Amino acid sequence: MTKRLNAFVASANSSETQFPLNNLPYGVFLQGDLKRCGVAIGDFVLDVAALEKQGLIDLGQPLLQSAAWNPVMDAGSDIWGQLRARLITLLSDGSADQNAVEAALYPLTDVQLLMPFTVSEFTDFYAGKHHATNVGTMFRGAENALPPNWLHIPIGYNGRASSVVVSGTDIHRPSGQLKGPDDALPRFAPSKRFDIELEMGAIVGRPSSDRVSVDQADDMIFGYVILNDWSARDIQAWEYQPLGPFQSKATATTISPWIVTKAALEPFRCETPTRDFELLAHLKDTGPMLYGIDLGVTIAPKGSDATEVIRTNYKEMYYSAAQQLAHHTSSGCPMRVGDLLGSGTISGATKDSRGSFLELSWGGKEPFTLDSGETRSFIEDYDTLTLQGFAKGSDFKIGFGDCTGTILPAK
Ligand code: MN
Repeated sequence: MTKRLNAFVASANSSETQFPLNNLPYGVFLQGDLKRCGVAIGDFVLDVAALEKQGLIDLGQPLLQSAAWNPVMDAGSDIWGQLRARLITLLSDGSADQNAVEAALYPLTDVQLLMPFTVSEFTDFYAGKHHATNVGTMFRGAENALPPNWLHIPIGYNGRASSVVVSGTDIHRPSGQLKGPDDALPRFAPSKRFDIELEMGAIVGRPSSDRVSVDQADDMIFGYVILNDWSARDIQAWEYQPLGPFQSKATATTISPWIVTKAALEPFRCETPTRDFELLAHLKDTGPMLYGIDLGVTIAPKGSDATEVIRTNYKEMYYSAAQQLAHHTSSGCPMRVGDLLGSGTISGATKDSRGSFLELSWGGKEPFTLDSGETRSFIEDYDTLTLQGFAKGSDFKIGFGDCTGTILPAK
């Protein structure tokens, strides 16, 4: 396992920080009234826009003077590698430019983090086998749990880029059309079964105009975020047939403020699981394309401490982001820089590794208890939900920052 790299920033050398020199995740922060591209290091954010202006970072053209990382993505993977190498040099223990770099560091506690990139389009998949089996069992019975296509294609739907928000954004409980199994007619009311979905988001950094292979798709991915696909289960249950989710998933999707690059995650690659059926050629595994990332979810009712209710790992997925992206292009669908692909809910085999409250409370039949003594089946008003993820090395860990949101009453 890769060892921790030493930075001249002391807080980046702690085994507790999620932003060691090995990470260098990309975000956007508010400095005064300016939106700036920044890189997290220890307890600080590095103002890379300022360093580029001073000539300490030179990518051949100005790419960091934007309020989003899309221009860097668009510049291509050679630039991605150049930038990462330069940042490691600038921040390493013994850096020749330590004074200038120090002057561009701001404490993370002093800055507001904004959307790290402009989302071009958003697609959400349904690629966790335990999740699909759990949900299918609840909705259709154990014999019909997995739809017949599930083991052959990564199922997804086209979501809304406009609904993607950064961590810390409050979310109003949605209202929608609801109809329970015993109701004669539907009614319009606030959702009573508002839920999270614990996911990873893959960010497409290179465009495509035609079908791409799984290896080409992997090369197109710029990095990953933690993603919460907020879901109104009662709206979903009424609307989903025959075209899939629509308003139940359109309220908001929250992402972590930091994009962890594919380069930073490289040491944590792992294999996809054994296949029930051999995949067709355009989806075949060509190498380890999942990542070992420990994931957790906490819930904090208003005025109470947080309780961790979910622990799972990204390696539980059946399809990798590269396979999902390759499949996404299989019809000739063009992909754009800034496309966001939700992995699908990440559940493991055990009860405490179920990645949604729908599964955790088994459709509301088995409420779970929080440290405060309260019980939950779904989210209550003023609950704060926080998703976290860590790839763990021998003496360091790589994180994405909190992916958090508080639910406010319906409007
Ligand atoms: Mn989802």
